[in-house]
Amino acid sequence: MLIIKTIAEMRQFVSEARKNNRSVGLVPTMGYFHRGHLALMEKAVQQCDVVVTSLYVNPLQFGPAEDFAAYPKDLERDAKLAESVGVDVIFAPTDREMYPAGFDTTVSVGDTITGKLCGLSRPGHFTGVATVVTKLFNIVQPDKAFFGQKDAQQVLVIKRMVQDLNMNVEIVPVPIVREKDGLAMSSRNVYLTPEQRQAATVLYKSLQLAQEQVKKGQRDGAEICRLVKEKINSEPLAELDYVEIYSYPELKSIDKINGAALLAVAAKFGLARLIDNIILEA
Ligand code: AMP
Repeated sequence: MLIIKTIAEMRQFVSEARKNNRSVGLVPTMGYFHRGHLALMEKAVQQCDVVVTSLYVNPLQFGPAEDFAAYPKDLERDAKLAESVGVDVIFAPTDREMYPAGFDTTVSVGDTITGKLCGLSRPGHFTGVATVVTKLFNIVQPDKAFFGQKDAQQVLVIKRMVQDLNMNVEIVPVPIVREKDGLAMSSRNVYLTPEQRQAATVLYKSLQLAQEQVKKGQRDGAEICRLVKEKINSEPLAELDYVEIYSYPELKSIDKINGAALLAVAAKFGLARLIDNIILEA
């Protein structure tokens, strides 16, 4: 497996692969790999001849009070993990390579998708994401790119952008990978103390509670959100950010669930802001 740090070398590698008629898969990440990341890479290895995983903690998608400086990093460990699942290249550019002096262009996806959930809680976040993903698509020119459903809103942002800007790449969503007790895997879980780690299981439990309610016939979105909030607030170490339901995949406001709906939650446990979601089907 190669570790490539410059855009020029990355382009060179991809042009060689293309000359040999090999399909290229891209898995964009911020590193500090866990089984969620590896599931994306495994799917990419199944579907593409050559797999590039980008590893870049993108400053543009972090707010000033967020954890950019503290974000966990371990390139050596990540390289071993990526290699173990058959990744061909880790693309790990520097900030100067990605945002040289004078950089002054961003990509922003409209409010229908970005004006709610994490887009509201983290102003500018999705512009940072759309901009870096556009750059990665332009550098790697993948046939397919793989994104985790854990960031369900992000998948919708990227799909909207690809469609609207006629980007020639297929977006492949990958289901959420969870710990045994249901906690969604996240690089940010390392911030949790043992007590917070235990408390954080309330997120998935609250989503399961909602699913049970829907199975029993509950269709009232506000009532489901109320129950989920109550459940999360019953955990003293949880600091709730949002609990919301939207139609899926349109992300339109709904009163009643009929068809697919996205229930998304965000809460802080100490330093870790964690998100989770489930698609409810009436
Ligand atoms: P990150 O490094 O956290 O930016 O995540 C990189 C990619 O991995 C994104 O597409 C995430 O949605 C995906 N991902 C992160 N955690 C999980 C998980 N638990 N299950 C599935 N995909 C995940």
